[in-house]
Amino acid sequence: MYWEKDVETIDRKNLEELQLSRLKDTIAHAGNSYYYGKTYKEKGIQADLIKSLSDIQKIPFTTKDDLRENWPYGFISVNKDELVRMHSSSGTTGRATVIFHTANDLAVWTNLLARCMYMAGMRKSDVFQNMMTYGLFTGGLGFHYGAEKIGAMVIPAGAGNSKRQIQLMMDFATTVVHVIPSYALHLSTVFAELNLDPRKDTNVKIAFVGAEPHTEKMRRKIEDIYGYKAFNSYGLSEMNGPGVAFECPRQDGLHIWEDSFLVEIIDPETLQPVADGAEGELVMTTLQREGMPILRYRTKDLTRIIPEPCPCGRTHRRIERIKGRTDDMLILKGVNIFPMQIEKRLMDIPGVGTNFLIILDRQEFNDSMTVKVEVSKEYFSGDLKQLEMLRKKIIEELKSEILITPKVDLVGLDILPKGEGKAVRVIDNRKD
Ligand code: AMP
Ligand code: ZN
Repeated sequence: MYWEKDVETIDRKNLEELQLSRLKDTIAHAGNSYYYGKTYKEKGIQADLIKSLSDIQKIPFTTKDDLRENWPYGFISVNKDELVRMHSSSGTTGRATVIFHTANDLAVWTNLLARCMYMAGMRKSDVFQNMMTYGLFTGGLGFHYGAEKIGAMVIPAGAGNSKRQIQLMMDFATTVVHVIPSYALHLSTVFAELNLDPRKDTNVKIAFVGAEPHTEKMRRKIEDIYGYKAFNSYGLSEMNGPGVAFECPRQDGLHIWEDSFLVEIIDPETLQPVADGAEGELVMTTLQREGMPILRYRTKDLTRIIPEPCPCGRTHRRIERIKGRTDDMLILKGVNIFPMQIEKRLMDIPGVGTNFLIILDRQEFNDSMTVKVEVSKEYFSGDLKQLEMLRKKIIEELKSEILITPKVDLVGLDILPKGEGKAVRVIDNRKD
């Protein structure tokens, strides 16, 4: 039932002692990096500052902007020779945040994923089909190595190519899958096209779903269509990727692995800790990272800690499913997108006006993005070929920026609604 019983059920007092000792080590070690070395000096931070876990509040927060500004190696705390792999966040936000790992970091990460998958019920006898993008994105390789560690047979299917996914699932009697929730819904329409019923025609018992926000209702819908159990998987590249927090068989909140991460929930306005159990922004400190320790990382994800212990016996606290974000980042098909990326690209294209609107839809289980763009009125008179060429160019430009092909509608100037004050850039119509 447990992958590592002593770690997963460790009593809180021992867990906190372990955290404190790892926190002290992490803070001392992080000082070797250019960024934290400089920050410690500026703020007069000494390694012996930390006497208790709450002393973490004396350390400044780290943000995505800090990571970007010190790109690529400003956060490295070991000799570069010790690094064995890099990953980055999904999407291309200009300079994507890059995370570097030592061999030991990868071993720790792999073990966390094995712990998660084992907790949800995966075993050595399973056939695991990983339908996530392999490469820089963490969902592919992260789960891959975790599953191999358990000893399951891994099908590294990668993302997309729905008919082949279904074929693989049927040919090799896949029992466990890892899938983005919106893709799971889309895939069900391909099953229907092929006159197949996933409940009858596949052997899948367990799915790991994550990488993007989804509601309880959406999870239940997926479980209903496929007849498997879907476990919520939360993570972010800055904290390795998946394997940060994961549901146990009770499917009631995600255990966040506190031997590896120190967890805080703060009020995103005042930046002060919230009351126990209250909602706020999740902030995390790595407790076992060698290559690139990160202190008090502001995830911008909103959640709360469930204060009651979980009946499953694991003592690591649970967070609730992610409620939203404190910034304007969108996640479409598992890819992170900032409206600013779209704005920047559009503004570089001659003929494009200053106003645009992003509309996200979910139709027939298919998520899509439409970008309405205001363009100069000359394009609408005479030969409409120019207009079509401009539309195609915008699609190309946006695709290379956000990795997803949007629909683009061109409209005349002053057609789109102007928000009062802050422009309304995004309308999200995605419902369960
Ligand atoms: P990345 O760094 O590209 O892996 O993106 C990480 C972000 O994806 C997180 O900060 C969350 O906003 C989002 N995310 C990942 N997993 C989940 C999940 N299970 N539920 C909701 N949001 C998620
Ligand atoms: Zn539990």
